[in-house]
Amino acid sequence: MGLKDKIRTWAAIRSPWVAHVNSGSCNGCDIEILAALTPHFDVERFGILLKGPSRHADVLLVTGNMTLQARERVKRIYEQMPEPKFVIAVGTCPASGSVFFDSYAHMNGIDADIPVDVYITGCPPKPEAIIHAVTKLIKKVTHPEEIKKEKEELDRILIAEVEAERKRRQQRREEKEVTS
Ligand code: SF4
Repeated sequence: MGLKDKIRTWAAIRSPWVAHVNSGSCNGCDIEILAALTPHFDVERFGILLKGPSRHADVLLVTGNMTLQARERVKRIYEQMPEPKFVIAVGTCPASGSVFFDSYAHMNGIDADIPVDVYITGCPPKPEAIIHAVTKLIKKVTHPEEIKKEKEELDRILIAEVEAERKRRQQRREEKEVTS
């Protein structure tokens, strides 16, 4: 990364201006984004500002499973954003399609069309989760090694949980066989 890009990234991440696009949401996630931007949560303490035109934004908040109708518009909005730019998928729909999975009108998530930096699960996610995602994005850019460590730790916990559950099921099966 050149010096110019480093300065741009530094500025973008210290005061991330966000734009919001609905790629086919039921409006549940959009309402939570609006709630997150109210003075109650005071997101301006992180430098977060909502911007109408995507040309002024650093971060694109995308809600909803990608509909065929919205697809080209969302891609155009993403292309209009200046570099460096980041995308946060808000809710389960833009991550996987959620309840609209395999519908004739949807793409099952948005990452086939635009790159996603952070996913927020939830249907819809709470405002706190949305704010947490933006701060995670900041950390991902400024301290990538910490995020990598966190991910490794989460993977380790998840694998241990899966293994423990497998053992519990095996034990239950064996107990059943003994009693029958
Ligand atoms: S994740 Fe849930 S609330 Fe959000 S757009 Fe999809 S269905 Fe609606």
